[in-house]
Amino acid sequence: MRFLAAFQNLAYIAAALLFILALAGLARQKTAVRGNILGACGMGIALVATIAASGGAAANLPLFLGAVVIALVIGAAVGVWRARSVAMTQMPELVAMLHSFVGAAAVLVGWNSYIMQPGGALPDAAENAFHLGEVGLAVLIGAVTLTGSIVAFLKLSGKMSGKPLVLPGRNWINLGALVLCALLIWQLITTDGFVMGVAFLVLITVISLLLGVHLVAAIGGGDMPVVVSMLNSYSGWAAAMAGFTLGNDLLIITGALVGSSGAYLSYVMCQGMNRSFASVILGGFGDGATAQVGEAKDYGTHTETTPEQVADLLRESNRVVIAPGYGMATAQAQFPVADLARKLTDAGAEVVFAIHPVAGRMPGHMNVLLAEAKVPYRMVFEMDEVNDDFADVDTVLVIGANDTVNPAAETEPDSPIAGMPVLRVWEAENVVVFKRSMGNAGYSGVDNPLFYADNTLMLLGDAKESVEAILGAL
Ligand code: NDP
Repeated sequence: MRFLAAFQNLAYIAAALLFILALAGLARQKTAVRGNILGACGMGIALVATIAASGGAAANLPLFLGAVVIALVIGAAVGVWRARSVAMTQMPELVAMLHSFVGAAAVLVGWNSYIMQPGGALPDAAENAFHLGEVGLAVLIGAVTLTGSIVAFLKLSGKMSGKPLVLPGRNWINLGALVLCALLIWQLITTDGFVMGVAFLVLITVISLLLGVHLVAAIGGGDMPVVVSMLNSYSGWAAAMAGFTLGNDLLIITGALVGSSGAYLSYVMCQGMNRSFASVILGGFGDGATAQVGEAKDYGTHTETTPEQVADLLRESNRVVIAPGYGMATAQAQFPVADLARKLTDAGAEVVFAIHPVAGRMPGHMNVLLAEAKVPYRMVFEMDEVNDDFADVDTVLVIGANDTVNPAAETEPDSPIAGMPVLRVWEAENVVVFKRSMGNAGYSGVDNPLFYADNTLMLLGDAKESVEAILGAL
């Protein structure tokens, strides 16, 4: 047993280090694959160590191993099936669904922990209070994560309306629910009676489940990716709480890593959109109701072009920047776009990709698509690395991007996206914008003066078909 405990501790330290290295690796495209492998190795070590240590303490080893194997087989089969079948554009909803599992696990761990060690079970009063506080918090955070993630999943997958549910005094309702839960957790801590304790825990669970539904239902469908990142953070804290109740150090470390990185990611996303975190949580943006916000402005007329004309333009261009956006993802145009970049490079042009931090619908969306299409990392640049150089660029190809290249963010203080950092593509000599029609706006619902600029040509149609036609013409 002592050997198993020592093995578990060592394995947990190794796994924790691997998780930290995994996060560091995931921060850069070049090292992301290695980071992912390190994380998977850490999780493998953690699983083996936990199963070995729990198996050593199990009263009925065959029954224990049977249950573990069944759980592993079902979990792995569902995981592999979903990961292989999910479309890139459905990634946020898959992540939301996975967070709901973490929330459910934290609720179950909290309940199990209470049943095994109810109020007064521990001899030391302080230890007892701490344990019951952990149980209450694990159930509270877990239940909010569970139902909040389910609502996020339903909104993202279109099974529930994306419109925010605006109940009168909804922020007071949320605050009231939180205060009530805090009081009930206090009651749980100070009650020794099992039945009363169970009653308090039932109330905490029910109120938290309702709070999760209400919190996320009040947020517009368009803000769901930020909410998913926020729920990612919650699921980390729920796991950390479950780690405290289980006395599992690795779960505490992992939960804290997920909790803090999720919170930081939400912050970075909000910065990329120039929104405050509070404005996302309080809802009402990106819900479709805000489309064409403010007065429609007259930016003049746009100029349309053809794939053949764009091919001619590219033949004469020495420096080309490709700015991809959400439309490249929906059109699945990354493969012909990568071919186009190769073809132009082979012909002697300098071609780079300019990636806005919130292009697409999730952080790193464009990087993943370009990596999928085997675009070399050395061609892919972050916004800050290229934004001062557009004046020296001959042609920019804006492939399905809209808000992230909208000059109104810099020139129109009353615009809903005013202040959002954008790619200054309009400074280039020529800009070609790929989109399907002039009728549709971008994610934020505001019109884009870039489309009407003198140096902009609009290539209307599906981005994949348009790029393939240019390749054909070249
Ligand atoms: P936008 O969502 O602003 O615009 C997408 C553009 O793609 C539109 O012009 C659309 O026009 C075009 N498009 C759609 N489908 C196709 C197609 N098949 N072929 C060609 N064009 C197509 O994209 P951006 O990437 O510029 O901006 C991302 C937005 O999402 C930002 O506002 C950001 O704040 C927001 N956001 C990003 C998150 C992230 O983490 N990345 C998270 C949450 C929100 P049309 O319909 O006419 O074809």
